[in-house]
Amino acid sequence: MKKREIINLGKRKRWGIWISKSDIVEYLRCGYRVFLSHLTGVPIEEMKDVNKIKAIIERGITFESKVVDEGRFKEVTSEDAIEENISLDIVLHTPVLFRNHELGIQGIPDLIDVQKGKLYPIEIKTHREVTNSDRLELAFYWILLEPYRKGKQKPKGYVLLSTGEMVEVLLTEDDLFEIYCFIDEIREVKEYGTYPTLSQECKLCNLITDCQREVAERGGLSLIHGIASIREQQLKTLGITNIADFAKADSLTLHTSWCSLTTNHPGLNEIGKMQLHAASIMTRKPIFFGESSSFNFCTQNIIVLDLEYDPVSYVWLVGLCIASQENQEFHQYFAEKSDIKEEKRILSSLIDILRSKPKYHVVTYGASADIPQLKKAWNRHGFSSDLWNQLEGRHIDLYTLILRSFRLPLTFYGLKDIEDYFGFVRKGDRIDGLTALDKYYQYVRVRKKETKLALKQELLQYNKEDIKATAFIVRKFKSFIGECIVKQPI
Ligand code: SF4
Repeated sequence: MKKREIINLGKRKRWGIWISKSDIVEYLRCGYRVFLSHLTGVPIEEMKDVNKIKAIIERGITFESKVVDEGRFKEVTSEDAIEENISLDIVLHTPVLFRNHELGIQGIPDLIDVQKGKLYPIEIKTHREVTNSDRLELAFYWILLEPYRKGKQKPKGYVLLSTGEMVEVLLTEDDLFEIYCFIDEIREVKEYGTYPTLSQECKLCNLITDCQREVAERGGLSLIHGIASIREQQLKTLGITNIADFAKADSLTLHTSWCSLTTNHPGLNEIGKMQLHAASIMTRKPIFFGESSSFNFCTQNIIVLDLEYDPVSYVWLVGLCIASQENQEFHQYFAEKSDIKEEKRILSSLIDILRSKPKYHVVTYGASADIPQLKKAWNRHGFSSDLWNQLEGRHIDLYTLILRSFRLPLTFYGLKDIEDYFGFVRKGDRIDGLTALDKYYQYVRVRKKETKLALKQELLQYNKEDIKATAFIVRKFKSFIGECIVKQPI
């Protein structure tokens, strides 16, 4: 059946279960939670770890309200307002539930650019670039508004980013096909159920312990690093449904059949690493396949670095530990205000230390965000590019190195997971970066001295514990290699 025919078939059907845009967004995060929520009536938000998502939600609400307050949009309070304004060239703020009865879908678009009946949906987002999820959400709203639209229009929508930029997103037939497929899948999941698949989303979810146990009991493939719902489905199509079968499959044959199934397949080496991970989980033994010389720095003098920052603004805390075999010296530079002057002050202190220890390796844990953020700030202040090149030359991201060299009997490789594995005992609970950011802005706003002091101490302690944990893990690694099974991926 051709895509267009499937789409038209979808348009003729009438459905029993209404699907919303939130269903799409949540389904992309976890289909099992969508099913559980439908089954039990418990809202998905209540299944999430409130402390971890509070900052994200508040940030979204504040930003959206600000955009709506500052924009010159006409607020409407009923579905009929579309009909009343259809010939105008205005943007409507539409806190109204729209329904497409033909498709059984419903939703509340943030804004609608009426453009004389074209009805382009606009989504307000706190991020800085258009994501795949934004595209899907716009596709959803495009088909949601179809019954209200005048004539046949070229599908598109807009995303209003946190940078203030309004980005036009042209929607292709593939985008629309994808959204129809998702709507069908979600309806099926709600009706017939599904099982949990572990992913990074689980770290924000209250059900993680139960789901991890359930997945472990059935040897689910999502225990393996690099396999989440899409790859799990692909492997199911290839006849592999658990880690035992996956571990013993012939890698070359598996690679060939995976290639013939989809273009979005892992390489042979990656499959080999996944199989080692399956073996590690089943035997509960760590496996090493890296270069042991890459870990020479573990017995040398190092600087462990951890930054806290607002991704759309400034670095506000630089924490570091100068660690030799005998000694650990901690330094923390805290911005009293989130502004460029304070950022320059704390980064200048970092630069002084980097200059004073030119031979020390600089170690971070999970540099995918910290280092680009530091580079942006570095350029903002016009700091020496030679010094930056030196820093890059001696920088080691421990997270990347671990994944390049080991598979451990763990599902996740975040700092918390690895420090627990090696037995680091942390003072206080670990908070994530967004919660820390939320607390920092509370610190900046609050006037009461005691509250301010308590918040600052909490933030400094959290940063220091992350640094201590990273330094602790570094010192473990050199001898740890000797305890591992040594095996190459292929
Ligand atoms: S723990 Fe993970 S798999 Fe389980 S419901 Fe939460 S997000 Fe889904």
